[in-house]
Amino acid sequence: MMRPTAIVPLRFAFAALLAVAQTSVASHAQTPPPSAAELRVFDPSLIDTSVDPCENFYLYSCNGWLKRNPLPADQTSYGRYTELAELNRLQLRQILEQAASPAAGATRSPNEQKIGEEYASCMDTAAVNKLGIAPLQPELDRIAAIKTAAQLPAEVAHLQSIGVNAFFGMGSNQDFNDSNSVISFYGAGGLGLPERDYYTRADPKSIEQRLGYVAHVRKMFSLAGEPDAEAAKDADTVMAIETRLAKASLTITEQRDPQNLNHPTDVAKFSNELTHFSLNQFVAAAGAPATGRMNDMEPKFFAEFNALVADTPIVQIRTYLRWHLLHAYAGTSLPDSFDRENWNFYSHILNGAEKEQERWKRCTRRVDRELGEALGQVYVAKYFPPAAKMRALNMTLAIEQAMDKDIDSLDWMSPETKVKAREKLHSVMNKVGYPDKWRDYSKLEIVPGDALGNQMRADQFEFARDLAKIGKPVDKGEWGMTPPTVNAYYDPQQNNVNFPAGYFQPPFFSDKEDDAANYGDMGSTVGHELTHGFDDEGRQFDKDGNLKNWWTKEDEEKFTARADCEVKQYDAIEAVPGVHLNGKLTLGENLADLGGLWLAWLAWLDKAETAHIDMTAKVDGYTPDQRFWIAYAQQWCTQTRPEQLRSQALGNPHAPDEYRTNTVLSDLPEFAKSFSCRKTSKMVAATPCRVW
Ligand SMILES: [Zn+2]
Repeated sequence: MMRPTAIVPLRFAFAALLAVAQTSVASHAQTPPPSAAELRVFDPSLIDTSVDPCENFYLYSCNGWLKRNPLPADQTSYGRYTELAELNRLQLRQILEQAASPAAGATRSPNEQKIGEEYASCMDTAAVNKLGIAPLQPELDRIAAIKTAAQLPAEVAHLQSIGVNAFFGMGSNQDFNDSNSVISFYGAGGLGLPERDYYTRADPKSIEQRLGYVAHVRKMFSLAGEPDAEAAKDADTVMAIETRLAKASLTITEQRDPQNLNHPTDVAKFSNELTHFSLNQFVAAAGAPATGRMNDMEPKFFAEFNALVADTPIVQIRTYLRWHLLHAYAGTSLPDSFDRENWNFYSHILNGAEKEQERWKRCTRRVDRELGEALGQVYVAKYFPPAAKMRALNMTLAIEQAMDKDIDSLDWMSPETKVKAREKLHSVMNKVGYPDKWRDYSKLEIVPGDALGNQMRADQFEFARDLAKIGKPVDKGEWGMTPPTVNAYYDPQQNNVNFPAGYFQPPFFSDKEDDAANYGDMGSTVGHELTHGFDDEGRQFDKDGNLKNWWTKEDEEKFTARADCEVKQYDAIEAVPGVHLNGKLTLGENLADLGGLWLAWLAWLDKAETAHIDMTAKVDGYTPDQRFWIAYAQQWCTQTRPEQLRSQALGNPHAPDEYRTNTVLSDLPEFAKSFSCRKTSKMVAATPCRVW
């Protein structure tokens, strides 16, 4: 989802990473997106004055936008984040088309040549269709050649290196207990459905989705040339193996607690536990260290994986691997029939899309994924002037100052914990725009006309790059998002906030609008990311990014009691009939939303006072404080399909946009005051929650 988020799940939960990739379908095929000049941070034309702001502030602030923006057929959700992402994507398209077919006599930089050739090979559907499944044949042959379990480890390593989600995930990450070192992490994985609960829920909709998944796997095997009866049997095999892996995996809520994922061991010891899977052969084939400290993120999962290898016939394991190979390449690298079937299950059945995204959009996303910093380098040179970076940095510093004062004024926290909290705040590193040092892709070979081979080489390149970090010092300058991304994140292990260049633009930030608009909108996001350092997950890391408790017991209890108020508040929300939000799963984001908006409010009040802003002077009919709250709400205007809303309520750590607006604001008496809401209004919580 295109939403401000914490990077933690992306960095170490391999299964979660796949779920994001599969559901992030968003584009705008029917009507062109508005031009940048039309987008405003505070936009009075979006307000519906027939709605009472004290009854439903989201609808009051957004109804004009909702009426103007019916959900296009190829979308599962469409909001203001998508609006900007679409504009950025048009800019990327122009860069890529120029790089793909440069004007006569024009010279291309090595990066431009690479992104241009990769984009062109992805767009060349005639070549992809003509080649059919042939480019994958050598890989299918390798899997067919596995005759005994002893041959499995080397092949699993190879498949993982080419981007196949085979059984589990292995990669590098910062040691939870030692922020100076990078070690190998082994995590649960190997599922084709978005996450483990899809395999276990007993409600009719989930059962229907599982049947749909088995039908999809069967269809993919058929497309790969299997007779139908065999394809049907094989699909059942895949479902049985994945269900077993799923049941041994942590839930996404359990994964949010880093303590649940911190099981330091060493490679030799881990190797002794995997009695039926030679770790030595696996690491040798993967190019990972054969000794040294590592993290077994989910011991229960790996015990089950070990048992599964021991008691599953090798023919069934081959079937499982064949499915994941087809699945990994089904997007833009295999013929239309695979592509279409892949879309049908993941976008249409699971999330309700009615039409597939245009090819150029998917190819743009692909180049962004594979060569993100090569594309990003060209993007920022063209679209992110140094002045924009300064403005973004200044706002970040203002919000940090507000947090410093806020911590100081908390009535529930002891002086000793306050000292530690402020120490942590002062150590936060602000990263804005793009990396200081760009990633070097010179060793990645892109071959014109070879879409599948290019995907494979790009995955191998990234796999090797990631593993090469093991044993080296932590590189805090590295980015987890590409520059054109409309999103932001806080990294608790590095204690830094990251705001990609693509985000600091209208409708989220504009130097043509005043502070009330900019702080209500972008300011709240900056505050959101900072607050992640102090949410239920981030607060467990110290200023250096070690998983180490710096709280007194009493303060910890007070924090938990206050956070529980939000758990209950969101648990009570029924997002779609029969599906409530998961207060524990969304707690970190909800804490960040409320804390972030509060910090933006404090920072803005400071700015307004310094600038002697007249708080009674109306612009467009609204006072500055009213425009602050409306700008906050308008960032969340979004259309969402019921299927997508259901997926989000069940599995996304962010609450749906309507609640990110209304529930958050209902906790703030300052909001109620701005709109003179009565105590009994829907927009005023009976028991308001507040942590930060
Ligand atoms: Zn977040």
